[in-house]
Amino acid sequence: MERYDIAIIGTGPAGLSAAITAVIRKKRVVLFGSRSLSDKVEKAHTIQNYLGLPSISGQNLQKAFLRHLDEMQIAVTEERVTLVYPMGDYFALQTATNAMYEAESVILATGVVQGKPYAGEEQFLGRGVSYCATCDAPLYRGKTTAVIASNPKEEAEAEFLAEYAEKVYYFPQYDGEVHVADGIEVVHDKPVSVCGDTQVGTLETEQGSYAVDGVFILREAVAPGQLLPGLQTEGGHVKVDRALQTNVPGCFACGDLTGRPYQYIKSAGEGNVAALSAAAYLDGKRRAHKA
Ligand SMILES: Cc1cc2nc3c(=O)[nH]c(=O)nc-3n(C[C@H](O)[C@H](O)[C@H](O)COP(=O)(O)OP(=O)(O)OC[C@H]3O[C@@H](n4cnc5c(N)ncnc54)[C@H](O)[C@@H]3O)c2cc1C
Repeated sequence: MERYDIAIIGTGPAGLSAAITAVIRKKRVVLFGSRSLSDKVEKAHTIQNYLGLPSISGQNLQKAFLRHLDEMQIAVTEERVTLVYPMGDYFALQTATNAMYEAESVILATGVVQGKPYAGEEQFLGRGVSYCATCDAPLYRGKTTAVIASNPKEEAEAEFLAEYAEKVYYFPQYDGEVHVADGIEVVHDKPVSVCGDTQVGTLETEQGSYAVDGVFILREAVAPGQLLPGLQTEGGHVKVDRALQTNVPGCFACGDLTGRPYQYIKSAGEGNVAALSAAAYLDGKRRAHKA
């Protein structure tokens, strides 16, 4: 398997800026996210404070970012990373399609996770709570499951799960029409808590209670501590030093993920610093190896 120098997770201003700087520093980069970049860029009406681009719309800023990527021939790997495992000398990354990647260093640029975890979510993680249908659906063959989905992209995940599970309840937490296969029960209700004894037993909602064996919570972004177990966080943000190094050697974080203010230019600036720090980390490692 190819081992990259730097895996960058997130295609907002932080991740894009990190990718551009890392490529300029001649590092082999894999950039995970989407060519539609970040909703937080695309949906902004008019941006007044991005240096050199006064009164630019979010959509035009997105186009400018994409042009920059394309000019530098930086590809986006259209995958959502679900887990990062520190392996000592390198990192293994697992994606929602169960693909595996390897990189010597990692830059987390996943933005902030909206909303608090559901009550019981963390307690039952791995004991009936899952963040990835593609990874865990086979464990629920013949069972009853619930999918809590933050966006329409998760409809396909629910359909995949329904190929294994006996019953799937689908709780869309977004506006607009829902298109899922017949047999999946769509419930327009707000989940409140995941309950059970040693394993998940029920999903409690504002208006009811559903007996389930598993709850798939599918959000745009996974909380950083769940993405990389052992990562130090504080108030939902990743703890970093001025070089944007986290407590895990070789892992850097940038952008909204490291804390307020939530701003494009701060995110882009931190992406640049994180990439330079990752490059210095890799160069130092190679020098030590040669000595
Ligand atoms: C409506 C609106 C208007 C705004 N206006 C302004 C403004 O005028 N000026 C200003 O400075 N700021 C503004 N902001 C704030 C700005 O959008 C954010 O500070 C900025 O987008 C943060 O960049 P980021 O790269 O850190 O994270 P994000 O832009 O949130 O990007 C993170 C990306 O990572 C992806 N991702 C997350 N997890 C994973 C994973 N596991 N695998 C793969 N990809 C993943 C996400 O899908 C997302 O695309 C505005 C925000 C909003 C919502």
